[in-house]
Amino acid sequence: MSNPARGSHGTPDRTPDPARQFVHEFAEGSKEQKRLLGGKGANLAEMTNLGLPVPPGFTISTEACRYYLAEGREPEGLAQEVDRHLARLEAERGKQLGAQEDPLLVSVRSGAMYSMPGMMDTVLDIGLHDGSVAGLAAESGDERFAWDSYRRLIQMFGKTVLGIDGRLFDDALERMKRDRGVTSDLGLGVSDLRDLVAEHKAVVRDRTGRDFPQDPREQLDMAIRAVFESWNTERARAYRRQERIPHDLGTAVNVMAMVYGNLGPNSGTGVAFTRDPATGRPGVYGDYLTDAQGEDVVAGIRNTVALQELEHIDKRSYDELLRIMALLEEHYKDLCDIEFTIERGKLWMLQTRVGKRTAAAAFQMAVQLVDDGVIDLDEALRRVTGAQLAHLMFPQFDKSSGTAPLAHGVPASPGAAVGAAVFDSAEAVARRDRGERVILVRQETNPDDLPGMLVAEGILTSRGGKTSHAAVVARGMGKTCVVGADALEIDTGRRRFTVHGAEVREGDVISVDGTTGAVYRGEIAVVPSPVMRDLQSGGRPDTARPDTARQDAAGADGAAAVVHAVRRLMRHADSVARLGVHANADTPQDAERARRLGARGIGLCRTEHMFLGERRHYVEDLILAETGEQQDKALDALLPLQRDDFAGIFEAMNDLPVTIRLIDPPLHEFLPDLTELAVKVAVARERGEPDEDDERLLQAVRKQHERNPMLGLRGVRLGLVVPGLVGMQVRAIAEAAVAHKRAGGTPRPEVMVPLVGGAEELELLRAEIEAVLADVRAGSGVDVPIAIGTMIELPRAALTAGRIAGSAEFFSFGTNDLTQTTWGFSRDDVEGEFFGAYLDKGIFTVSPFEAIDEEGVGRLIEIAVAEGRAARPGLVLGVCGEHGGDPASVRFFDRAGLDYVSCSPYRVPIARLEAGRAAVTGHGGGSDTR
Ligand code: PEP
Ligand code: MG
Repeated sequence: MSNPARGSHGTPDRTPDPARQFVHEFAEGSKEQKRLLGGKGANLAEMTNLGLPVPPGFTISTEACRYYLAEGREPEGLAQEVDRHLARLEAERGKQLGAQEDPLLVSVRSGAMYSMPGMMDTVLDIGLHDGSVAGLAAESGDERFAWDSYRRLIQMFGKTVLGIDGRLFDDALERMKRDRGVTSDLGLGVSDLRDLVAEHKAVVRDRTGRDFPQDPREQLDMAIRAVFESWNTERARAYRRQERIPHDLGTAVNVMAMVYGNLGPNSGTGVAFTRDPATGRPGVYGDYLTDAQGEDVVAGIRNTVALQELEHIDKRSYDELLRIMALLEEHYKDLCDIEFTIERGKLWMLQTRVGKRTAAAAFQMAVQLVDDGVIDLDEALRRVTGAQLAHLMFPQFDKSSGTAPLAHGVPASPGAAVGAAVFDSAEAVARRDRGERVILVRQETNPDDLPGMLVAEGILTSRGGKTSHAAVVARGMGKTCVVGADALEIDTGRRRFTVHGAEVREGDVISVDGTTGAVYRGEIAVVPSPVMRDLQSGGRPDTARPDTARQDAAGADGAAAVVHAVRRLMRHADSVARLGVHANADTPQDAERARRLGARGIGLCRTEHMFLGERRHYVEDLILAETGEQQDKALDALLPLQRDDFAGIFEAMNDLPVTIRLIDPPLHEFLPDLTELAVKVAVARERGEPDEDDERLLQAVRKQHERNPMLGLRGVRLGLVVPGLVGMQVRAIAEAAVAHKRAGGTPRPEVMVPLVGGAEELELLRAEIEAVLADVRAGSGVDVPIAIGTMIELPRAALTAGRIAGSAEFFSFGTNDLTQTTWGFSRDDVEGEFFGAYLDKGIFTVSPFEAIDEEGVGRLIEIAVAEGRAARPGLVLGVCGEHGGDPASVRFFDRAGLDYVSCSPYRVPIARLEAGRAAVTGHGGGSDTR
């Protein structure tokens, strides 16, 4: 089946060759192999090859996962391959997996091509069982550690591999802490942990009907299988849908020798960024947690210390970490985020990747790296996306409202969100379904909160830091998020929180500022983003300066830096772009806005939009006219109105092309609803008071009624069937152009004929258009060149483009209708009806009405481009469907060789940026900054 995102994501084959190698040592891979080894595996390989201290291990490829998911079993030979690599690992570490004495333990971690934080499974401490726990205790000299590791294994294994409700284990731990009168798990002693292990084992037996597996190899195989299967959990699928990640990539599985951060005070675990993840400025950023395992940091369970503190805790490891951070950044030439563990003073690198970042940080960081001489402007442009720019164009809170915040937390993901406070995911979804805006308020989030996070305007937590689950996931989604607002006392059971004595109940409206971390009671007004303000100023210098009187200093500096960074990259995008950007605009106001946002013309002026509202009756008169005289009268009434419309647009777009499309929609759209009118007429007749006008109208409406109006009398067909309509529109265009030229302007109108299916249609209409243009020229004595072209929005038009080009000076691809007619999807119905199911089934990753279906619709475009240009070398080519403003589609249109894209005014900056990115990315597919 076709996958519209295939071009941008490069979906792999579904059925891998079973004879292939499925397991790869870390030393065998590289960072370029994310598709095969997943992001984590590829970067572990890269670090291993850089000579960094990575615990040894191997990666089971995404291919093996795809095979497993397709066939329901592991590929032939996988078990033997795992045997071989495990034997090597055992030899290297000098230990046996799960041996009674000095056992080797391993972690089993998922890792897909695109990072999906917290979405898939990880199991640590594989290899522990009743027999090996004593061996681990003896070897480590720390019995508590051994039993703590064992209880962690049963808990993690029970939840992720055996599918047992994790709360059963959590509750046991909480109960134990309560019974022993301690607040932290660190307060539990050996015998407590022994008891906890027994309790956990009882939970496993009770829930699964079998004992916790004691065979280490069985544990490993089950964990690998569970990671494969975690690719398809509900939450992973939901995440992929949101992030437009194809469902058929699969995950890799990384098996790595365990190193322990929970071996006492000289051990620990942390995360680090090679630069400030918010601004890109160099520095030391991150969190560290003493005597803990990796998951503890991300879960936000205990409070971490700033990474700088590590210098005082373990200077040697700290210095080495800084050295490695510098090396990684030099190597990746970008901000890297890192997970590390210190085991009794020995530093181990567990993971690195080019760090995720907010939209604001992406722009700032790209420019900062240019200023630091690390990358050039082309590379900086590759590192930002149209989607990120769209995010920056979001509104922000009006600082002048003067409202005092209720609380402050850590600003984790920027934006301004207003909504009713809700305390769990289900309530968030229920209220959203009723059309309410909600803010999800939690102590901390976990992957089960994903449905609520997806529908919420914003997320607010009382615990956790910038690397907590809530922060990472919200940032990835581009959702406003504040975490760690610890003044909030959240009582989920009673569905309320209190803060300094004030109470906020479920349903009360709150406002959350993801840029400053402020939380407000009630609704705060929002103002447009400074980036949007600057973009709308058309880059006039004074407006880049934020209103410092109204904003606190940090916010103002931050805003100015982002505005500056966006402006610089936009300028570069414009300077390198090959593809022009026009706008779809039907009024002088829209045209003006589009021009300010950088449009270099109007690519689509939909004239039927000019006949709506109170003007509708003019068209009704035209349809109902029974004589030529009545028809002329109706057209005469329309002519001056249209002429004024066009005059205003020419004024706004002086000197830039304005492509005016002749009227397109089915005529019945201008007539009253058939059922309503029929009822009205019937009632009047019943009363014995028939209305002559209504009777006539009803007849006409019946005549015009179509079963499939989208495929009926519209576009070029209207022009050919309703005499005088096209003539009137063309005359209005030509006369407005003459008047504009006489007034000293430079009008550049173009006439565009919609829904052409064959050359004959266009030839006939073109003759009529040319006759009117000649008439206006002769009458006025003013010559305004007006190009005549057509839309290509039917498959037949694309397939006969060579002939059509004989009568067209330009083509504009109407990809809305072209998608509708190529797929046979009714554009007004299917998205709401069954696209959800299609997306779930992976038939496409994104609606083809949103991102161009390169394989099908795109192919038709490529044919039309080739055959059109072959027939008429100077043919100008554009696109004016919704896809003209979609980032991935813009890159396709550049590859297809179009001259411009046209989109709604607010998307013009996004298209400009993407046009620039397309130019510096080349035609090989492009970098994906996800
Ligand atoms: C199109 O079909 O892509 C198009 C731009 O025309 P409309 O959306 O007005 O049908
Ligand atoms: Mg159309």
